[in-house]
Amino acid sequence: MASHIVGYPRMGPKRELKFALESFWDGKSSAEDLQKVSSDLRASIWKQMADAGIKYIPSNTFSHYDQVLDATATLGAVPPRYGWTGGEIGFDTYFSMARGNATVPAMEMTKWFDTNYHFIVPELGPDVNFTYASHKAVDEYKEAKALGVDTVPVLVGPVTYLLLSKPAKGVEKSFSLLSLLPKVLAVYKEVIADLKAAGASWIQFDEPTLVLDLESHKLQAFTDAYAELAPALSGLNVLVETYFADIPAEAYKTLTSLNGVTAYGFDLVRGTNTLDLIKGGFPSGKYLFAGVVDGRNIWANDLAASLTTLQGLEGIVGKDKLVVSTSSSLLHTAVDLVNETKLDDEIKSWLAFAAQKIVEVNALAKALSGHKDEAFFSGNAAALASRKSSPRVTNEAVQKAAAALKGSDHRRATNVSARLDSQQKKLNLPILPTTTIGSFPQTVELRRVRREFKANKISEEEYVKSIKEEIRKVVELQEELDIDVLVHGEPERNDMVEYFGEQLSGFAFTVNGWVQSYGSRCVKPPIIYGDVSRPKPMTVFWSSLAQSFTKRPMKGMLTGPVTILNWSFVRNDQPRSETTYQIALAIKDEVEDLEKAGITVIQIDEAALREGLPLRKSEQAHYLDWAVHAFRITNVGVQDTTQIHTHMCYSNFNDIIHSIIDMDADVITIENSRSDEKLLSVFREGVKYGAGIGPGVYDIHSPRIPPTEEIADRINKMLAVLEKNILWVNPDCGLKTRKYTEVKPALTNMVAAAKLIRNEL
Ligand code: GLN
Ligand code: ZN
Repeated sequence: MASHIVGYPRMGPKRELKFALESFWDGKSSAEDLQKVSSDLRASIWKQMADAGIKYIPSNTFSHYDQVLDATATLGAVPPRYGWTGGEIGFDTYFSMARGNATVPAMEMTKWFDTNYHFIVPELGPDVNFTYASHKAVDEYKEAKALGVDTVPVLVGPVTYLLLSKPAKGVEKSFSLLSLLPKVLAVYKEVIADLKAAGASWIQFDEPTLVLDLESHKLQAFTDAYAELAPALSGLNVLVETYFADIPAEAYKTLTSLNGVTAYGFDLVRGTNTLDLIKGGFPSGKYLFAGVVDGRNIWANDLAASLTTLQGLEGIVGKDKLVVSTSSSLLHTAVDLVNETKLDDEIKSWLAFAAQKIVEVNALAKALSGHKDEAFFSGNAAALASRKSSPRVTNEAVQKAAAALKGSDHRRATNVSARLDSQQKKLNLPILPTTTIGSFPQTVELRRVRREFKANKISEEEYVKSIKEEIRKVVELQEELDIDVLVHGEPERNDMVEYFGEQLSGFAFTVNGWVQSYGSRCVKPPIIYGDVSRPKPMTVFWSSLAQSFTKRPMKGMLTGPVTILNWSFVRNDQPRSETTYQIALAIKDEVEDLEKAGITVIQIDEAALREGLPLRKSEQAHYLDWAVHAFRITNVGVQDTTQIHTHMCYSNFNDIIHSIIDMDADVITIENSRSDEKLLSVFREGVKYGAGIGPGVYDIHSPRIPPTEEIADRINKMLAVLEKNILWVNPDCGLKTRKYTEVKPALTNMVAAAKLIRNEL
């Protein structure tokens, strides 16, 4: 019985790749140094899987930035502005596309399906000259082979690649990206030939777009693409991998009829209906890669349940055609539980990270073939039982309070225009008020202070003194820059979710449970294992302190319940909505305490509301309903004069605009600048929006400093669509990843641009 892993985290158990990348970008180490760290990481991952007994081990799931950008490099689809002149694509061109350079901004980045991973969106026009320009896939295959590991090279599937692309600037709307399919396939054929020549016997195409509700012409593109590739693929075993949701019945039909494809991978953790589709008919002689081990979470698998599922499938597809797999790439889970020294043993026994999931996959495969490791299975059953009955999981009072919310609506009594009037009387802000999203640069010194306080190396007094100083500096800087609504800079926060989770009950924390978010950036999601409550105020001390340093309004800064949920590893023993309502009640208490402490502007970040949107349309309305309701619960208790802001980290919100309006925040700041004001189109099309809005005027993901004229230009474009009295001027997102040498000039230009336009109005 065989085992397979869809993909594996790249950063390394202690984020080795992150540090190597950042040191290279800072010019502190060479390309060779970076390559060495990378190849060591790849080698250890392959060896780990081989040692565990995994039969189908992936290669080319490593990346120096992103697998979609890797595909762009493979296809030589470099936008002309990066000045690439041909030949094998090197770090220069690659990282310019990813991060921008001194003269050219980065390519657009967007969320990978409903995860917190971001990919670089390919930009394609009718005249792209696709050429085989990166041999990474075959190089990695050979590299593994040289180490004695025969791998399954993984490629982003050609149709998914095109469906995730966007038309290049200036290309007419009628241009069909799928019309590029033949040209793209020509390069794929070269890659396939290369892999074959290198000795590959399997190849994996990731085609997760198949789980979306695709129109029939898009499904047809899959049929056409694989028919076209079939001759090139002959002699190979071809796995088409899907993940993240149930596959729609139509797509299932298309997938299982593809020419030249011998194996299908499904997410059976999220794909409960998929199981029925398989039971309803599976092509004979083909392989089923059954994703029963969750790639998106950190809970130990219910091995007994998985085994039952697998045994059921065995009867349908045949013993020799069933492969035990992960539900998706393990990229979206933490790396290795072994490095968790601080988790207590009980909670630890409930968990499995990537390294442990490999072992689970293999244990299931062995059990299917009659070599069940009884000790391993009974250990697993005991852990599951302990989780079910542990008193740490349940808090009766919280359960009751959350249950009482159900069925009732929660809304502020006054409408938003009237509220904005009362707020303006109190705040007296200029037109086009300027603000920032919350965090200021997190210096090495600052990180050291937090780290040492955590490790009890410095006293609380010293810690408070340092943070206080930092806040004072940040406030002074903002006054100097003449920003209107200030922030305290979040120096006490490691991460916007972790900070709250650490102070709420029901959360556990890892030391090394990092998950890649974009490029070198990782997040360390907390683990919500039990009912959530707030023992005491979490931000009031720092916010009041910050307010005491200035007469200007100081924003209280909170993370919203939906974002805390979406950026945590969430318990899988109750609905997500239930957990969110519990968090909403805790944040509500905090909002009210901030208001009592004299904070008049409170920002409740819902950076991740959009990414939690279920991929299947049929499930979206329900999600938006409870998510938006949970947000409203947090601020339903404040006075009209208290201004509630929210911030969202994405620009493709056009499809959920009505839900966003329904959140009923007074001001919303959103990411905008990397997506060419795509979001403005929704207002152009006449959606009525009465609340304040700040579409980011420059991209904080790039070190580039935007000139004043450029920002002014953007503001003018916004003014063409939005009323001047609702428009705010702010960056795209928080500034914590930037340096002061970037932030100061960028914000100087931002304020200058706002003033320039104020004078013209
Ligand atoms: N307030 C947060 C910050 O500025 C928001 C970050 C985010 O939206 N990702 O860091
Ligand atoms: Zn953001």
